[in-house]
Parts: sequence; C-alpha cells; structure tokens
Amino acid sequence: MGVLSPNPPFPPTRMAQLFYEFLGRYNDWKLARRQETIGRIIVLLLGLLALIFPLIFPNFSLSVSFVMLILLYFATRRYLELNEQVSHLYVNVHILHHHLIGKLEVGFCDHREPCHCAENFRKYVLNNYNISFDKGSLSGNKS
Ligand SMILES: [Zn+2]
Repeated sequence: MGVLSPNPPFPPTRMAQLFYEFLGRYNDWKLARRQETIGRIIVLLLGLLALIFPLIFPNFSLSVSFVMLILLYFATRRYLELNEQVSHLYVNVHILHHHLIGKLEVGFCDHREPCHCAENFRKYVLNNYNISFDKGSLSGNKS
C-alpha cells in the first residue's frame, strides 16, 4: 500500500532532534513569509488609496489623506519588521537545512554496509512536508 508509516524513518534520535528543530524553524519561516506577503499587499493597497482617494473625492481633502498616510506609515513599519524577521528565520532554516543535508551524506545512520536509510528519509520528508533535501533546494521551494 502507498500509505506512509506514521513513524518517520529516523535512524538515531539525534537525527530526529535535528529534524524537528529544523521543521519548527521552517514552519515559523513559512508563517512569517505569509504574513509578510499580506503586509506587502496592505501597504500597496494603502499607498494606492492614498494616491487615488484625493483624485476621486477632492472634497474629502486633507484629513482623509492624512489619516491614510498615517496608516500607511504604520503598515510600512510593520511590513519592514516582518521582512527582517523573514530574513532572520531564513538564515536559521538555511543553516539547519544545510546541516541536515550534510548528515544525509555522511553519518546519517549507523550502518556500515550500503543502505537506504538516507534515501528513505529524503522521500519521507518530501512526501510528508514537501521539503526537499537536495542541495540548494530550499530557496527554490514552492508554497
Ligand atoms: Zn542505514
């Protein structure tokens, strides 16, 4: 059957620890990226409104534009904070990803003869989390 086992194929516990740490950071990073995208849309919309509103409703004039500019200011500030957070998390995730790839290449399990542990693990993570452990694949990841 094609259903994956509920137990991930981690050989030793040290790998599981590393992987779950990576996964936690990875999820934080994805969440922050989503918030950043929403923030960017809000900033763009507010900027657009601040530009267009006085043209469409000249009678509303200054006070409304002023309020919009203030909103735009705070939205932009928040967006920049999120942007910084995303970069910071990306560095963390990238380092852990790199570390895991290294482990997959050397010393992933304790077998001395050739085995499929690392390969099974790669497949498991790709199927369950849509994360690839090929070199340099993290930034190119969709979703
Ligand atoms: Zn093995």
